[in-house]
Amino acid sequence: MPGVWIFAERNDLALELLTVAGGLASQTGVKVTAIVPDQGDQADRCIAGGADEIVLLSPLGEDMSLAAWIPVIAAEAKGADPDILLIAATARGKDFAARLAARLDTGLCSNCTALHREGDGTIVMERLAYGGTAVDRVSCSTRPVMATIPPRTFAPAPADTGRSGEIRKLPLPPSTPVRVIARKTKDRSSQDITEAKTVICVGRGMEKEEDINIARQLAELVGGEVGCTRPISEELHWLPDDLCIGLSGVQVKPDLYVGLGVSGQIQHVTGIRGVRVICAVNKDENAPIFQAADLGIIGDLREVMPRLIEELKKATGR
Ligand SMILES: Cc1cc2nc3c(=O)[nH]c(=O)nc-3n(C[C@H](O)[C@H](O)[C@H](O)COP(=O)(O)OP(=O)(O)OC[C@H]3O[C@@H](n4cnc5c(N)ncnc54)[C@H](O)[C@@H]3O)c2cc1C
Repeated sequence: MPGVWIFAERNDLALELLTVAGGLASQTGVKVTAIVPDQGDQADRCIAGGADEIVLLSPLGEDMSLAAWIPVIAAEAKGADPDILLIAATARGKDFAARLAARLDTGLCSNCTALHREGDGTIVMERLAYGGTAVDRVSCSTRPVMATIPPRTFAPAPADTGRSGEIRKLPLPPSTPVRVIARKTKDRSSQDITEAKTVICVGRGMEKEEDINIARQLAELVGGEVGCTRPISEELHWLPDDLCIGLSGVQVKPDLYVGLGVSGQIQHVTGIRGVRVICAVNKDENAPIFQAADLGIIGDLREVMPRLIEELKKATGR
């Protein structure tokens, strides 16, 4: 049966996918199905966000991974034959999507940033190419059309509590040869910056490793995460590689990005194209980052930042 399916591990991401799924489904009058973990009021919130049908995944045993659901969901998709299947591009979601696409023998557009239906019904998906200097338009000739969508690409679907929908639960998947033997919580230095609402980015303008504390202090004050340019992670090893933003790192989409001593080379700026407000502190008034920035401070970050942090402390009472 034609339809638009979404799969997300988390409710906030399910609601973001429902925004785009609802738009696509309404064009052809098909149903939206949300496949989500059976947790709290997730089903009700997805129905309020536009889902017509909820497929709940029962909690897995501690030693089972999300991948155990792949054969079950593949069987569901083969039976129902949806037109489109969208998956939230978390670290696990990306892995899940690739394996599910292989099971369904269909294509997958990863890190898709926009989707629309052409006049002839073809779904066209967009993703950045060539380091963000071009947009790749992708269409898929097999069913279902599959895409992973990075967190914060779309606003969450607004809630309409008057909506109703069907809810059904999938049986637990059979055990797989893959066993989870331990789970560890990531420490603060290795938070996933792709989902952060504020990112303070450290560049080579930091003279010594201790200077990163300036960024950490600011991040603490504004509830943000610290990211970096490639020289900081790859050459100096002051921060881990997964905090590197840009072409060879990750793309971030916070509401606010503050670049401290970042020159703003294209390979870095590629990673901050989806940012709402870009601020930069750089002592060189000709630094390219100022071309991308909404707000810029020309000055030595070791002089500017302590004053800014002091003012922020006063303003926030912390
Ligand atoms: C194939 C390829 C892939 C790449 N991928 C990435 C990537 O993913 N991410 C990435 O970041 N880079 C990447 N790079 C590297 C990129 O080209 C730049 O070299 C890098 O982004 C520069 O990092 P930076 O801005 O920290 O350092 P710099 O370019 O050295 O800039 C430092 C800036 O700090 C300013 N500054 C110095 N002292 C102070 C001070 N006291 N106060 C205020 N400002 C000060 C300077 O004016 C300067 O603008 C890639 C390069 C290649 C070739």
